[in-house]
Amino acid sequence: MNKITMTTPLVEMDGDEMTRVLWQMIKDELILPFVDLKAEYYDLGLKHRDETNDQVTVDAANAVKKYGVAVKCATITPNAARMKEYQLKEMWKSPNGTIRSILDGTVFRAPILVKGIEPYVRTWKKPIVMARHAYGDVYKAAEMRIPGPGTCELVFRGEDGSETKELIHHFQGPGVVQGMHNLDSSISAFAHSCFSYALDQKMDLWFASKDTISKKYDQHFKLCFQEIFDRDYKEKFEALGLKYFYTLIDDAVARAVKSEGGFIWALKNYDGDVMSDLVASAFGSLAMMTSVLVSPHGWYEYEAAHGTVQRHYYRWLKGEQTSTNPMATIFAWSGALKKRGELDHNQALCTFGEKLEKASVLAIENGLMTGDLASITTHPDPTTLNSADFIHEIRNILETI
Ligand code: NAP
Ligand code: MG
Repeated sequence: MNKITMTTPLVEMDGDEMTRVLWQMIKDELILPFVDLKAEYYDLGLKHRDETNDQVTVDAANAVKKYGVAVKCATITPNAARMKEYQLKEMWKSPNGTIRSILDGTVFRAPILVKGIEPYVRTWKKPIVMARHAYGDVYKAAEMRIPGPGTCELVFRGEDGSETKELIHHFQGPGVVQGMHNLDSSISAFAHSCFSYALDQKMDLWFASKDTISKKYDQHFKLCFQEIFDRDYKEKFEALGLKYFYTLIDDAVARAVKSEGGFIWALKNYDGDVMSDLVASAFGSLAMMTSVLVSPHGWYEYEAAHGTVQRHYYRWLKGEQTSTNPMATIFAWSGALKKRGELDHNQALCTFGEKLEKASVLAIENGLMTGDLASITTHPDPTTLNSADFIHEIRNILETI
């Protein structure tokens, strides 16, 4: 069989633990036999990040700027326990954080829907894609404990010497206070990413915040989205018959639950954090959640939403077969290959990406699945497979479609 050729490399970022094991299996069984893979490889495994003083993460992110498309394996974000386990020189930062700050993007998360893994919300028929702003607000806030009576104010001192004050509260007794911020540059990058992604996916876009209460902060997000939409995207949305609308977050929550899905839901940082876990769980399983970082410059980085599945890895190290679900990692590969194909006008590569997704979904719908899904499926007679056997079954299907 002739392998599919590629004209431009994609950036391949290897990772850690169980997902690193799955990564190799996926490449060997599902990619390399079919595609003459052109990839620029970066080893983001924790050991190699430590050896390079984390330079490899920065190099990998810069390579995304060059090539436009990346596929990333889950990686360990070191903590004190990992410092000891890997005898690290430093507690390196989260690779995802580093990459995001270089590419300046928004993270979109979408569930993989298959028959037999039913959403807990009965009306949901199509995916709901969550778009979470990844900068600022409560994640970069300054906080204070107020010990007792006194006055608390917000003060802005301009570089021109001007000063603006806003009373927060005259405290009669002890309390707490918090000051948070965001940046026009980041908000507009968020808006551009959402509008571009909606056009790319041909899906409606909702944006929700609480501007009736937050009349300057959330209102600014709302106005920024509207201005960018009207100026740069309105006609393109209309041409595709797509809608953008803003609504209050409490209204959006109620509408989302009653909807049949099939839209992108953009949210501020905290709202997106909370709602994306809620939506992922309500669709069935974190192991079925895909994730893509879209930068406003048109660069794409595909990954799984879950972590390195550490507990399974320790069992695998002891020689046990694990039934770790590779779906989200397979979809990271198919997503990256499809995007590469689209950018390079390589139809064969796009078609292959679609077939890979179809084969993976078919395997599950035929009752072949990993343990996490077998425990929640409505399939009458599921077979629980280990990761290697499950991937092998996908290959068998892939060869016939
Ligand atoms: P995790 O790897 O997402 O796993 C948490 C639990 O969820 C697992 O123990 C497993 O449950 C279940 N699970 C997740 N993915 C699964 C899959 N594909 N198949 C089957 N079950 C799955 O989170 P964690 O254990 O909290 O974190 C491990 C490491 O991942 C940490 O070092 C963290 O820094 C890193 N992390 C990386 C990323 C990323 O790179 N994007 C994201 C999150 C976390 P059972 O054990 O009950 O089977
Ligand atoms: Mg969270």
